[in-house]
Amino acid sequence: MYSCGPTVYRYAHIGNLRTYLMADWLRRTLEGIGYSVLHVKNITDVGHMRQEQLERGEDKVIAAALAEGKTPQQIAEFYTEAFLRDEARLNILPAHHFPKATEHVPDMLDLVKKLVDAGYAYERHGNVYFDVSRFPDYGRLSGQAAPGLEEGVRVEPDPLKRDQRDFTLWKAAEPGRLLRWPSPWGEGFPGWHIECSAMAIRYLGPRLDIHTGGVDNIFPHHEDEIAQSEAAYGGPFVRCWVHGQHLLVDGVKMAKSTGNVYTLDDLTRRGFEPLAFRYLCATVHYRTRMNFTWDSLRAAQKALVRLRLHAQQGDEAADSLPEEAVQWRERFWNALCDDLCLPRALAAAWGVARSALPAPVKRALLLEFDRVLGLDLARPPEVPALPGEIEELRERRHVLRTQKRWPEADALRERIVEAGYEVRDTQRGTVVLPRPPWLAAPGTISRSSDVPSLLSEAPALEFTVSLLARDNAPEVGRCLQALLRWLPASAEVLVVDNGSSDDTGPWLDAEAEREPRLRVFHADHFLGTAAARNVTIRQAQGRIFVWLDTSVEVTGDVFSRLAEVLARPEVGMVGRWGLRTADLHSFDEVEESGEVDALEGYLLALRREVLAQIAPLDEKFRFYRHLDLDLSLSVRDRGYLLLCDAALPVARHAHGEWERTAPEERDRLSKRNFYRFLSKWGGRHDLLVGTR
Ligand code: AMP
Ligand code: ZN
Repeated sequence: MYSCGPTVYRYAHIGNLRTYLMADWLRRTLEGIGYSVLHVKNITDVGHMRQEQLERGEDKVIAAALAEGKTPQQIAEFYTEAFLRDEARLNILPAHHFPKATEHVPDMLDLVKKLVDAGYAYERHGNVYFDVSRFPDYGRLSGQAAPGLEEGVRVEPDPLKRDQRDFTLWKAAEPGRLLRWPSPWGEGFPGWHIECSAMAIRYLGPRLDIHTGGVDNIFPHHEDEIAQSEAAYGGPFVRCWVHGQHLLVDGVKMAKSTGNVYTLDDLTRRGFEPLAFRYLCATVHYRTRMNFTWDSLRAAQKALVRLRLHAQQGDEAADSLPEEAVQWRERFWNALCDDLCLPRALAAAWGVARSALPAPVKRALLLEFDRVLGLDLARPPEVPALPGEIEELRERRHVLRTQKRWPEADALRERIVEAGYEVRDTQRGTVVLPRPPWLAAPGTISRSSDVPSLLSEAPALEFTVSLLARDNAPEVGRCLQALLRWLPASAEVLVVDNGSSDDTGPWLDAEAEREPRLRVFHADHFLGTAAARNVTIRQAQGRIFVWLDTSVEVTGDVFSRLAEVLARPEVGMVGRWGLRTADLHSFDEVEESGEVDALEGYLLALRREVLAQIAPLDEKFRFYRHLDLDLSLSVRDRGYLLLCDAALPVARHAHGEWERTAPEERDRLSKRNFYRFLSKWGGRHDLLVGTR
């Protein structure tokens, strides 16, 4: 069994780890039903580290390491260690071989030579290409025969290729490249795909039973592996391909720039056990996309702790298995043998846990299952002793409760909870336990629906101002200070501290202590812009909702003016900065007041009943750009006018979020949101002011 392994110039993210977990469960299942498995997982320590990419600053980690004087080898070693540590913490059995690409360049050169000699490959200026036209089966695995059909990939034509489908086996080294090897075609380095063929064949021969990877590997990586391996040795190269579906975070693809790429350390830093992630992955079939949320991880961690408790009971050995136990065992193994259905296998484990079987039998079965599940079910839970003062509070509260002095007992409960403990009143008395670190701090939110929606209720105030903060206390401070000077009495300011890691959160809390009209919501991670706005929309009590960006400073009485304009029922939304467009592609800011196609999200306002018609915002807009356009067209679509009011007394400063985002990330993020916007509204020219 061969698994495509990590690229070691960055940390593995939890999506990569999901794919390695799938391979681990596959291997453990095969071993469990009596096969012996020889498992090879490559370490890619060459290949994609392209010199020009580094120079363009695309990979900051490696660029920084090189700048510090580290060699590519040192960088690769560092991340290889990190990868092996991650696998060990997840109970992923180590592969029997972890071949490194840099140590197998001669194998790759042999394979490339073989392909050139047999007429399957040709050389151009020190590059060697595989000639796809010579391999009629090309495209059989993926159903795709040409590059460029994958989502979001733009391919520049390579003038050296005879046919654009041809792929690189060997590449000439560009000037300045550190990792390079001599070859019959000059100094160069291997293509990415040839690495896996050469190392798989070296350790497993030219016929593999199983080859694993993520779905993004299917094309071109695995398609190319098949072509070059079968051209050299005859087919079939692989009997069974197993591809794991991707992991998403908060419903969207993980991307460094979106701020939602998590590593195992990000999970343990929040107090989770690595195995909670393993448990979570077992709840989703490998062919299904898995949506990671902090909430789901919390649920997984809780479930894991509970499952372990079931495996703890009954020390004595079970001498024979009753019929019911045999049935559970069959269900477990049948689930695994049915396309590796971990969710059903896990359900069988829970079936055992919840059954009326004797404790020793439960324990024996769960520990047997754990040889595949790999969840350390035998690990005893830690029961820490309570510090003296907490024990005393618990005791005093117990006495108060027996005397039915509820308010006093409740007050003591609060004190225990504030000290970081959980209080559970059970039939056998009160249990006090340290609150596990992975439980969200009381009051933090991890998605917009964690706060109740008040939107269908009558307004209790005139205005709600919505603000989002993230690691930018000085900017929020400037905005808030100016805002509070002009804020009417019947108003509230709702601020979402959107996953700040600096002191923005505590700073906001201190402000809220002083200012009763200010309410702060702390998100346990960056929710995305639209989701955070949705928090404020759900909680808004105002008749008028004011959407403000922290880069804007209020310099006068904006509120009376907003209320005045919004008194006209045909006006759906008013704002300070408006946009006009002729084609829904390019938008121009307008200078003067009047009707516009869209309003910019620096400052805009709408009535509660209009807001209720268009809420919630589409939470796929994680980055802020184009969310205001989406909002604007939603309001237009309801038949309302949008007005730009250039007389609103506000000043606009540099946009912090924009400035803090690296240029190439801005592009990527903006593009993604723009396509989302276009696919929704691109055909709606009927909504534009100019077309009526
Ligand atoms: P890489 O280090 O990028 O070569 O990826 C290592 C493995 O992780 C490959 O098998 C990929 O297909 C897989 N992979 C990459 N991204 C994800 C993701 N978001 N979810 C699951 N697997 C992934
Ligand atoms: Zn591979």
